[in-house]
Parts: sequence; structure tokens; C-alpha cells
Amino acid sequence: MLRDFFLGFIKIHILHHASEEDICGVEIIDELKRHGYKLSPGTLYPTLHSLEKSGYLKSRGIVENGRIRKYYRITSKGKRALEKSKDKMKELVKEVVE
Ligand SMILES: [Zn+2]
Repeated sequence: MLRDFFLGFIKIHILHHASEEDICGVEIIDELKRHGYKLSPGTLYPTLHSLEKSGYLKSRGIVENGRIRKYYRITSKGKRALEKSKDKMKELVKEVVE
């Protein structure tokens, strides 16, 4: 149950960081760890793929040390979703937290 709630927060968090810079899976896992979310690659990668499939993220492969690493960047659809989520979050924080 909690996992369902947190998955929404995690998706918004990913969109936020992908709106600031290209970000790869390992960096997302580290960043989320910093915020107290323990995320396994087995949870993160399907989430990234579904965000990309839905058109919120776009990935490109970059060769690093002879291996291809996927970097993700927000799309314009993702930006709109992030802005809408921000409005909802502000309202939620005002009602529930403050
Ligand atoms: Zn963050």
C-alpha cells in the first residue's frame, strides 16, 4: 500500500530531476536514496520505461567506458504533467501538512 503512494512521489521526483538535467538510472537511485527512498533497479527501470512509453521522458544512449548507458530527459508532455502535479501537491500540502 505505502509502496503505491511512494511510487507517485518517486515518479514526480524523477520528472523534476529530468527537467533539470539528463539523468541516468544509477543517479536517480542515488538521488532517491538521499531522500530516504530505497529503490531497487528492479523497481526503477520498469518505472522509467513506463514513463518513457507514456511520453513523459525521452531516453538516449551514451557510450561510457565501452558500455551504453541510458540518460533520460523530460519531454514537453512530461513538463505539463509536472506542472499539474505541482499545483496538486501545493494544494495537498496546504490541506494535509500545514
Ligand atoms: Zn531530489
